[in-house]
Amino acid sequence: MVKPVLAIHGGAGALSRAVMSSEAERQYRAALDGILRAAHAVLAKGGGALDCVAQAVCLLEDCPLFNAGKGAVFTSAGTHELDAAIMDGASLNSGAVANVEHIKHPVLAARAVLEHSNHVFFVSRGAEDFALSQGLEMVENHYFSTPQRREQWLRVVNEFPGQAVLDHDAARVQAQAEAPLDPDRKFGTVGAVAIDVRGNLAAATSTGGVTNKQIGRVGDAPIIGAGCYAANRTAAVSTTGTGEMFIRVVAAYDVAALMDYAGLSLEQAAEKVVHEKLVAIQGQGGLIAVDGKGNVTMPFNTEGMYRGYLRQGEEPFVAIYR
Ligand code: ASP
Repeated sequence: MVKPVLAIHGGAGALSRAVMSSEAERQYRAALDGILRAAHAVLAKGGGALDCVAQAVCLLEDCPLFNAGKGAVFTSAGTHELDAAIMDGASLNSGAVANVEHIKHPVLAARAVLEHSNHVFFVSRGAEDFALSQGLEMVENHYFSTPQRREQWLRVVNEFPGQAVLDHDAARVQAQAEAPLDPDRKFGTVGAVAIDVRGNLAAATSTGGVTNKQIGRVGDAPIIGAGCYAANRTAAVSTTGTGEMFIRVVAAYDVAALMDYAGLSLEQAAEKVVHEKLVAIQGQGGLIAVDGKGNVTMPFNTEGMYRGYLRQGEEPFVAIYR
């Protein structure tokens, strides 16, 4: 029998120029640790991987430190547009929403699509209408704002008019980098992957996207196969990084495909995608993945990635830097 495991991420990126061992670092580690423990409890009670990843991502959406749900980055119009996806590795059932502005927990909307719709992917108003019909909690768009994200956006608007910023030359910007990973050079998606006691896999991903993105821009996070994928025979995968590149290499599915068709191990497949295929097209970021045996891998090609995992009967592992 497999020992149930949950792995989570809160985005990858460049190191902050602030002092490394800061109070902020402690906060990030504490948040990851707390969320791992709370969501792993679902698995510990014999619950399913799908419930567990939904719970983990919900908690990550509620945490203002991460760019998903509360604390999402700003669009070029000074608003928030959120994307999320979830996939069940046992059935391949999937649900996703994109460009939603009022759904408090986009991952729950994705889950509702998975469970209560014949479709896989809803965007914008249709997604919101569907969420509303499912009784999900709706909020005003400014609920997602935090003073830190607004400052970050205004800084970007002033320094890089008209650009969506992920990875600009931070030396040119007087960033207030109080977080361990530079908020201006960090990809902020959150995600979770899990295997439950029955050996079922699931993955979920949720994001505010990239700061100052154009209205209507969608990255990899809500695209099944790019930012989120799960199949029991191979792996569950959630990604974070330059979404356009992850879409181009179909990153999450490629990990599973390399295992399936080329016989690579989970670790070999994930390494190949993150350190070869993405790097070849200047894709930056990382992913978390778990396979059907409960192996976990969390590679990234940036300087850090907020990440952690918790295996039944063990203490949580939490890390930020390499
Ligand atoms: N991958 C996300 C996107 O492109 C960004 C991120 O990971 O922060 O929307």
